[in-house]
Amino acid sequence: MNETVKQLILDKIKAYDKIVISRHIRPDGDAIGSTHGFAALLRASFPEKDIRLVSEDSSTYLAFLGPDDETPDDSFYDGALVIVIDCGTKDRISNKKIDLGRELIKIDHHIDDKPYGDISWVEEERSSACEMIVDFYVSFRSELVMTKEAALPLYAGMVTDSGRFRFPSVTGETLRLAGVLLDVGIDTETLFAHLNLEDYEQFKYAAYVYENMERTENGVAYLFVTLDMQKRFGLDRETASNTIGYLDSIKNYLIWLAFIDNGDGSIRVRLRSRFITVQELATRYHGGGHDKAAGATVYSWEEADALIREADEMLGEYKRTHEGWL
Ligand code: AMP
Repeated sequence: MNETVKQLILDKIKAYDKIVISRHIRPDGDAIGSTHGFAALLRASFPEKDIRLVSEDSSTYLAFLGPDDETPDDSFYDGALVIVIDCGTKDRISNKKIDLGRELIKIDHHIDDKPYGDISWVEEERSSACEMIVDFYVSFRSELVMTKEAALPLYAGMVTDSGRFRFPSVTGETLRLAGVLLDVGIDTETLFAHLNLEDYEQFKYAAYVYENMERTENGVAYLFVTLDMQKRFGLDRETASNTIGYLDSIKNYLIWLAFIDNGDGSIRVRLRSRFITVQELATRYHGGGHDKAAGATVYSWEEADALIREADEMLGEYKRTHEGWL
């Protein structure tokens, strides 16, 4: 089945002269890596085609992977193929012009509860969309050209979306496909320096997070990233959102949440977990995502409290009925 869809996608790519590639809003390493990687793969494989990576927002933290392309005139979409990678739902696509294209292809690894696209290739169990792009390359190795320019962003996306190859979604196939990229040649020392190093000021913020985070009875760790805090520590939207990463390694705290005040009456919620699933909880609060990495939005601190209570109850029930969690 997937082989047929992949063949169909390759046939479409061959049939079009103009291709627009896009991803989800507020892009992470996988969204940036898969789109940059796929654009580079297609450019090297089909140099005669006009391929544009078009997105309305970017990421300062991942700027080392290079810029997107200039937004083309609307006329560029006439007779163009649009490929959206790593975006589960149409409303989260970071390009409002996609319907101007002739056909739309979805390539994704999120839970597919709101399908879209004329052709859709979704593999929910994949650790990243980048992994799917490398799989696509391997399926058509004799027709596609993998370059270092493509391999670096794809590897960066695989590394970040799999928690450095730690998450349960990582399979033997994930590592075999990552190996294909390493064989092409990647400066991993520089890559991991970009991904891991933080300015000294960030460590002061981390200290504040650990001093001020809150914990529920059953083991939910959470933090409100208020506008005051964002101002005090000079956090932009992205660094404020990255707060979630500080809460991920506390023993017995199986669910961790960060509430980031957007300043417009809405609060972004980032939900993460190990052993237990938080995707359904996110869905109940205008969100979705993966089983153990999901996002949601609440519109008051009271609603945030209700979400925390639900998470705590879920976790209490989980701990009573399961063994072996840490
Ligand atoms: P985040 O914490 O924003 O990185 O989200 C974690 C995962 O959930 C990502 O794969 C997002 O694409 C997905 N996600 C975040 N917010 C939503 C939403 N409102 N609806 C559907 N999926 C979401």
